Formats: sequence, C-alpha cells, structure tokens
Amino acid sequence: MSEYQEYQQLVVDTAKDLTHKGFLSATGGNLSVRIPGIKGFAITPSNYDYLKMIPEDICVLDMELNPLGGERRPSVESTMHAAIFKARPDVNAIIHTHQVYPSTLALIGKPIPALFDEQVRFLGRSVNIIPYAPSGTGMLVKTVAKHVGDHNNAYIMTNHGALLLAGEMERAVHNVAVLEKCALAYLLALCTGEKVSHIPLAVREIAFAKLRKDQKKYGKEN
Ligand SMILES: [Zn+2]
Repeated sequence: MSEYQEYQQLVVDTAKDLTHKGFLSATGGNLSVRIPGIKGFAITPSNYDYLKMIPEDICVLDMELNPLGGERRPSVESTMHAAIFKARPDVNAIIHTHQVYPSTLALIGKPIPALFDEQVRFLGRSVNIIPYAPSGTGMLVKTVAKHVGDHNNAYIMTNHGALLLAGEMERAVHNVAVLEKCALAYLLALCTGEKVSHIPLAVREIAFAKLRKDQKKYGKEN
C-alpha cells in the first residue's frame, strides 16, 4: 500500500462523486489535493475513466512535478495545479470541471457578480473569467496563477470550463455545486433582458471577510 493511499483514495472517491453528480464526464476535467509534509499533491491521471479509477491510478507529484507515486501519467494540467498550490497557500484542494453553465457564461464573456450571500461566502467577491489559453500550456499556467491572486475560490475559463479552490476537498465539491447554481440563475436572469440585482456591497464585504478568515487558517499550515 502506498504511503499516500489516504490522499489517493480521497481523489478517487471525489472523482466518482462528481461524476455521479454530473459535474465530471468522460475524461474531462481533473482534481487534486495537497499532501502536507511533502510539498506535493495527489492528482487524477491523464485521459482515464473516472469510474474505473483505483487509488494506485492517482499520481503523486512534488511541486516541481517529479513523480513520487502512482502508476499512470499525470493530468496534462498538473503544472496548473502546482502553480495554484504555490500561489495560494490557503488552498488544499483544486477541482477543474467542464461543467455546462459556468462554461456558457465564459463563452459570452460574463463574469458572475455578487448575486447571493452564499456565493460570496464560499466562492468569493465575484466569479471572474480567465482568458483563453490552450490546455497544458505554459501560457495557461501563467494566466491562471496571475488570476488566483485575487483570493476568490471560483473562476471560469474561456472556451474551457471552471476552476474551484478550497481549504479542503469536501468544501471544493460544495463549491462546484454552488457555482453551477449561481451560473444557471445568472444565465436565466440575463436571458430575460431585465436588470440583474446584486447583493449590497456591505453584505458582500462581510461574507468575503468570513471566507478569508476561514481560509487563512489553512494558509498558516502550509
Ligand atoms: Zn479542462
């Protein structure tokens, strides 16, 4: 049994859970969890069916992407995950999906403003758009690393998908669902052509302060 079994199992269980909920499909997307103590992380393998995955399939890499465990080739987005873990010590779990509604908003260049208290409490002040760069390229890594510096927990990637961050995996899964709900509500509101109402600025700042307080705890440990 691998010394990283606990983290590999968490990645397998989460990938299956997200597949059953419809947020991951086929081999699209990827997810990772930071492994404290080794300056590394466990990540889904490249191009492999989520429902067939077992812990041994999950790759363990250090932050320079040297392999430490797992039998498969790591996701092509491993450099992006490493860059986020380096840029955001408060983040221990990353989920990248190709989920439909946020992806649709990215297609029409609409970031999600602060619409719901719950959204800001978990996803941040707004869900911003990361400009297009091809998957697996240095250009995408650089662009993503720059954007996550605003300390939000959700982003939409133009012509690609969504990116969710959190202090722990359970919360990252929750964030995937919160983002889907907000994106759908915003999309429907935009379709009416009516003015879209935002939450008051003061409420937004209180919710965001709570999120930052929660997450700084994790940052201190890394
Ligand atoms: Zn992708």
